Amino acid sequence: MTKKLFLPTIQSALFLFCLIAMAQTPESTPREKYAATITSEDLSELLYTVASDSMQGRMTGTEGQKMAADFLQNFYKAHRIATAPGMDHYFQEIPATYFTRMKNPVSSENVLAYIEGSELPDEVVVLSAHYDHVGMEGDTIYNGADDDGSGTVALLEIAEAFQMAKDQGYGPKRSLLFLHVTGEEIGLYGSRYYTENPIIPIAQTLCDLNTDMIGRIDPLKEGNENYIYLIGSDKLSQSLHDLSEEVNKTYVQLELDYTFNADDDPNRFYYRSDHYNFAEKNIPVIFYFNGVHQDYHKPTDTPDKINYPLMAKRTRLIFHTAWEIANREGRIYADKRTE
Ligand SMILES: [Zn+2]
Repeated sequence: MTKKLFLPTIQSALFLFCLIAMAQTPESTPREKYAATITSEDLSELLYTVASDSMQGRMTGTEGQKMAADFLQNFYKAHRIATAPGMDHYFQEIPATYFTRMKNPVSSENVLAYIEGSELPDEVVVLSAHYDHVGMEGDTIYNGADDDGSGTVALLEIAEAFQMAKDQGYGPKRSLLFLHVTGEEIGLYGSRYYTENPIIPIAQTLCDLNTDMIGRIDPLKEGNENYIYLIGSDKLSQSLHDLSEEVNKTYVQLELDYTFNADDDPNRFYYRSDHYNFAEKNIPVIFYFNGVHQDYHKPTDTPDKINYPLMAKRTRLIFHTAWEIANREGRIYADKRTE
């Protein structure tokens, strides 16, 4: 009896305690609020489309790649995210003649979207990811969920979060260019074409945050999965490297692993994705990468094998880093330039 009589009192005490605790939780900052809109559910839904069989492995110049380009364009249209300055459409066409190492060269396209900065619109942060993959072999489809469906949909979610921020009065001070490049798997063509034919002058391009494979786990990291490999962050700009570290410590708390950033890394990953074409132009870069795994460049790189919560966390790191670069007091430079 007494116990029963007592219970409601304990319950109401607990309830009161919770109310007080809730009231004392500090309001999350706008950047945290918009970062929280990047969810594993949204990423999963998008990736099951981008890496679906209907996209036929997204080989450069094929129908599947064009379907993927349309999907990206439709996403940006639906979210009222703008085309790049001076363009009235989302595609940057690359002529067939540019693909010199292709057996039967066909034209292809980069897909670009843009969020204009409110105070320093001429200073632009590029976020890149390749959306092409290696296509099909007979009837076998290479879905390329991790490579690089993961980076592709990460960009979409980041763009959506920034556009929402802008619509609600928290738009970035500097501009953001979302650059989905084609032709990566056959020789980094799309990013090279963009850097040779930039929509925004190279001198106004602050950095390239490139995402290529962020949905899986390196077998060496099993049991220790709260990580991402960063490559290139300190090669051209110490200030970029420092702010990336700081942002991670404050907002995300992933282990930033620099194993593959070593100058003598035998894998040479620094030279093997699209950021390298930006680094060649002396633009600071960060390459976000989960490392290789058993399904790398195999038909088994499928969306069911992705770790979506981890991918969401890695995507939020990129979002926070872009937010910091776009909103901080001073712009970042290639402060380690040696030539
Ligand atoms: Zn890739």
